[in-house]
Amino acid sequence: MPSVLIVGAGFGGIAAAVELRRAGLTDVTVLERSSTLGGVWRDNTYPGAGCDIPSPYYSFSFEPNDAWPLRFSLGPEIMTYLARTAKKYGVAPRYGVTVTGAEFRAGQWHVSTSQGSHVADVLVPAVGQLSEPHLPTLPGTFEGPAFHSARWDHSVPLTGRRVAVIGTGASAAQFVPHVVRQAAEVTVFQRSAPYVLPKPDVEYRRWQHHMFPLERALFWGVGEVAALGIQGNRPVAKAVAALARHHLRRQVADPRLRRALTPDYPIGCKRVLFANDYYPALTQAHVRLSTDGIATLTPKGVRTRAGTEHEADVLIYGTGFRTTDFLSTLTVRGREADLSQTWSDGATAYLGMTVPGFPNMFLMYGPNTNLGSGSIVYMLERQARYLRQAVALLAEGKSTLDVRPEMATAFDREMRQRLADSAWAGCRSWYRTESGRVTNNWPGMVSEYDRRTRTLSPSDYVVTS
Ligand code: NAP
Repeated sequence: MPSVLIVGAGFGGIAAAVELRRAGLTDVTVLERSSTLGGVWRDNTYPGAGCDIPSPYYSFSFEPNDAWPLRFSLGPEIMTYLARTAKKYGVAPRYGVTVTGAEFRAGQWHVSTSQGSHVADVLVPAVGQLSEPHLPTLPGTFEGPAFHSARWDHSVPLTGRRVAVIGTGASAAQFVPHVVRQAAEVTVFQRSAPYVLPKPDVEYRRWQHHMFPLERALFWGVGEVAALGIQGNRPVAKAVAALARHHLRRQVADPRLRRALTPDYPIGCKRVLFANDYYPALTQAHVRLSTDGIATLTPKGVRTRAGTEHEADVLIYGTGFRTTDFLSTLTVRGREADLSQTWSDGATAYLGMTVPGFPNMFLMYGPNTNLGSGSIVYMLERQARYLRQAVALLAEGKSTLDVRPEMATAFDREMRQRLADSAWAGCRSWYRTESGRVTNNWPGMVSEYDRRTRTLSPSDYVVTS
C-alpha cells in the first residue's frame, strides 16, 4: 500500500485524509504546523468570524451535520464540525510539525520538517490559499498595538479606544460591526468599495434541520447561477448588482457615504460580500470611512494622501492574504526543478492538482480551484476523490504518476483564455498576480469541475510501473 503524507490539517488536508481512510488506506500521515486542526477557521478568531456559505452546503456530503444552529455558521461551530469529522474517520494529525521542504528522489518524496524527516510515496500539500497574512508595506511606523485580522490579538482592549481599520474585504465586513460596538471611534480605510448583498441568515428551528438536503441543493444551484454571472452572463450580473445597490440604498441614507460605498468596478470582479450589519456600522456617528488613500503610518495613527492624520490607539489590518504565493512556506523540488521556478510566471496545475515533473504530488485547493460563488468544501471533496483514485492506481503496483506536460499546458491555456473573459479580469483582487494573471480561481461552474475530476484518466499521466 502506498504511503501518503499530507501537509496541513485544514479542510483540505482533512478532506484528503478522510477520503483515503474511508477507502481503507492506513498509511496516511497528516502534519500540521499549528497545535490544532482547522486551518483558516483556527487562525481567524476575529469577532464575528464566520462563513458566508450556508452550512448545509459548507460541509462534506458524506458527513451532514443535522444540527447546524445557524445558516451561516460562526468559526467555532465549523471547527467543532471539522474536529468531529476527523475523529470519526480516525484522522489524527501530528501537531507542531512544520514542513519546510520536500524533494522527489529515487521514486519517493523526502520531506523535511521541524521534527526530522519523512519518506512517503505520495505528497499532498494542503496548505490553503489564505493561510499567510498580507501586511502591506506602508511607510512610517505606528507606535500602538497593531495586528492582522487572522492573527487577532485578543489581549488588546478595544472598548472606549480609537481604532483604525485598513481594508474592506470579507474579513473586515465581519469584524468591523463588532469593533464599532466597542470602540469610541473607528476609522475604516477603504481602497475599493466592496459589493455587499443581504445575508439571508436564520437561526434554524428543529424542523428545518430536516430540510438541510434541500437547502444544500438550493444553495448549490444559487452558486451555479452566480458563477454564470461571473463568467459574463449579463442578466445575472445585472440582477445581482441591482440587489447590491438596493441593499446600499436601503441601509445608507447619507448620499456622500453612499457614493463612497459604491463600487467602481464590475460586480464579481472581487469577492461579493454578504452582510446585514456592515453598512449600518459605517453610518454610526463615531465611525468614519476614509477613501483618500493612505500616505503613511504615523506614530499616532494614519495619514491620508489628502494630508489628514487620523489618530488611533489600535490599528487592525484587514488586508487579506498572500494568495498568489502558492506553497511559499516550503521548498518543493521535483524531478528537475523547484516548484517556485516552475511557477515563476504564476502557479498552475492540471485540474488544479498535478504539476509535470512533480510525480505523485497532488495539491488540495491548488491553483485555479477557488470559487467566486459556491462551497470550497465541495471542490475539496472532488480533489480528494481524484487523489483516492491516484493512490488506488499506485496500490495496483504502479510506482509513479506524472502528469503529461501537454495535458498541463493545454489546461493552463484553457484556464487563461476563459479567465481573461471573466469578471475577474476587470480589476485588482486577491485572485490575480501582479502581472494580472488569475491564478486562484476556477473559471466554470462547480458541476463542470465535478465532471472533469470524476474519473482519473491514466492516459493523462506518464505512468511508470
Ligand atoms: P481581502 O478580500 O483580500 O481584502 C483585503 C482588503 O484590504 C481589501 O479591501 C483591500 O483593498 C485592502 N488592502 C490590501 N492592501 C491594502 C493597502 N496596501 N492599502 C489599503 N488597503 C489595502 O481579504 P479578507 O477580507 O481577509 O478576505 C480574504 C478572503 O477570505 C475572502 O475573499 C474570502 O474568500 C475569505 N473569507 C471568507 C469569509 C466567509 O465568510 N466565507 C470570511 C472572511 C474571509 P483592495 O480591494 O483595493 O485591494
